[in-house]
Amino acid sequence: MEFLRPATWDEALAAKAEHPTALPISGGTDVMVEMNFDVHRPSAILDLNRITELTEWSGDGAAVRLGAAVPYARIIEELSGPLPGLALAAHTVGSPQIRNRGSVGGNLGAASPAGDSHPALLAAGRDVLVEAHSVRGVRLIPIDDFYLGVKRNSLEPDELIRAVRIPVADGPQQFSKIGTRNAMVIAVCAFGFALHPKDGTVGTGIGSAAPTPRRAVAAEEYLAGELAGRGLWESGGLLGPEVVQRFGELVKGAASPIDDVRGTADYRRHALAVMARRTLTWCWNDYRKQIRSAA
Ligand SMILES: Cc1cc2nc3c(=O)[nH]c(=O)nc-3n(C[C@H](O)[C@H](O)[C@H](O)COP(=O)(O)OP(=O)(O)OC[C@H]3O[C@@H](n4cnc5c(N)ncnc54)[C@H](O)[C@@H]3O)c2cc1C
Repeated sequence: MEFLRPATWDEALAAKAEHPTALPISGGTDVMVEMNFDVHRPSAILDLNRITELTEWSGDGAAVRLGAAVPYARIIEELSGPLPGLALAAHTVGSPQIRNRGSVGGNLGAASPAGDSHPALLAAGRDVLVEAHSVRGVRLIPIDDFYLGVKRNSLEPDELIRAVRIPVADGPQQFSKIGTRNAMVIAVCAFGFALHPKDGTVGTGIGSAAPTPRRAVAAEEYLAGELAGRGLWESGGLLGPEVVQRFGELVKGAASPIDDVRGTADYRRHALAVMARRTLTWCWNDYRKQIRSAA
């Protein structure tokens, strides 16, 4: 097996163009497990760990450009203000060791339906963009177009993820995950939720309950319609139990889960409705507090 160790981003892109089947390795928390279990015997490994810019993030107040290899531990420490949903999701990943190595770039590269960053990225809005670079140039892939199937994403063989562009939160965000224990657990199912008062939209992300991470479009539209139609964005009034209930049902209806070792399809649907109701209630209560304190 060839081991490619570029020192610069340009060298990495050139290596990927020359060896399109080379498997990139960042934190290695997915790659090494799969190699140890013989899931992968790639012809070459492309080690990205010398490319320091992948571990940097920057922000302009409107969006964060999150380097592909920024580890979860730093997302929690440094980005819980601008990216609260993603930071909450990062809290639930693995253990401290995994959070010190694992990255959102790696989560996207693996594209597992159970990856915890995906529901948070989907909920953060349709303007989330994955920066895919190659020697041919830069492609900005909207997050809604990124996930193609179970562990399949829309990267071309010569492309690498440089960063993810994520809008700074303009309202409360939440993330909820169900596992068979409290830590070191792959999600039975997960749900990300965000309120976007600036443009009057609502974001959702369903994890581990369909072949790909996906949003609950009908639930988003229903809730945004209620909030706008009843003037709730301005008044910060109560949602009412029917709205919360209906939202949960629509989220449940958006999933297409399977029975597997971690849980049954029925349980996943039920749990999603519960998580949807809870995260909506938490976020709406926070939003109402913000409205009242601004008045
Ligand atoms: C014990 C344990 C617990 C875990 N718990 C969780 C959990 O709770 N939640 C969760 O979501 N995940 C979990 N994982 C999985 C893993 O930690 C995450 O998916 C993590 O985000 C992977 O990041 P990484 O940097 O280690 O990726 P790597 O293992 O380096 O790479 C993962 C994939 O992404 C590709 N890749 C990496 N970087 C790039 C790039 N820049 N461009 C293109 N492709 C790239 C690789 O080729 C590979 O296919 C766990 C893993 C372990 C071993």
